[in-house]
Formats: sequence, structure tokens, C-alpha cells
Amino acid sequence: MNTLPEYSSIISTSKEYKTSEKSRLASRLWKKRNKERNDVYQKKWKRENKEKIWEYYKNNGRTRAKDYLETAKKWRKNNREKARAHGKLNYAVKTGRITKPTKCFYCLREKKLSGHHFDYKKALEVLWLCSSCHKIEHNFDILTRVL
Ligand SMILES: [Zn+2]
Ligand SMILES: [Zn+2]
Repeated sequence: MNTLPEYSSIISTSKEYKTSEKSRLASRLWKKRNKERNDVYQKKWKRENKEKIWEYYKNNGRTRAKDYLETAKKWRKNNREKARAHGKLNYAVKTGRITKPTKCFYCLREKKLSGHHFDYKKALEVLWLCSSCHKIEHNFDILTRVL
């Protein structure tokens, strides 16, 4: 590693500098120098590999980011509808507009039931299911959507 000209001039001109200050300055200069060198190198590399980088972004970056945004948007929208539907349903049960059964629609066991929505827009149209049947129902839902 060559001594940087800036560093040697600091040493020779300011002898009153404490060692720590000198080394701190030197390392700062070295970092600056190094950064400049890196920037130049990176710019050169980018210029030479423009096509490759562009291809990469086209295939991965942009499309994936778009997909991700779309999925997130869908999820948020779906979740908002879900939350709203559950809120409406809970309110209807509380006010007596809907009577919650005591037995699960599928297994007929007397358990703590939750409403399963087929369509979140129809908040009050639900199947009352126990937690295990509810899980099965959702898995089935996923399966039919995948197949
Ligand atoms: Zn459900
Ligand atoms: Zn059940």
C-alpha cells in the first residue's frame, strides 16, 4: 500500500498533531480515497455490464416487485373485507339479528363456533363451524383454488 500524498503532507506540516488524531485523519482520507476508487470501479463495471444488469432487472427486479405489490394490495383488500365482514357478523350476533347455533354445522359437536364466510361481501351469510372444521374448510378452499 503506497502512502497517500495527503497523508505524508499532514505528517510533515503538523508535527503538533497527536498520533491518534493523525491516524484518524489518515484513515478518513484513506476511506475517502478508497470510496472514490470504488465508485470509479463500480461505474466502469456498470457501464460495461449495462446489458446484463438491465436483463437482470427485467427478469427479476421489476417484475417481481410488481408481483409483490399486486399481491400485497390484494391481500390488504381481502383482509379489509374480511375484517369488515367479521365486524358486521359479530355485531349482528350481539344485537340478536343472527342467532349463533350451539353445534358445528359439519361435525355437530358442541364447541366454540366461528362463522365461515363464502363471500366476505355477504357478511351475514356464514357457516357456523368449530375450529377444526373451520380449518378443514379453509384447506379445502385453498385446494379447490389451486386445482
Ligand atoms: Zn372461514
Ligand atoms: Zn366441526
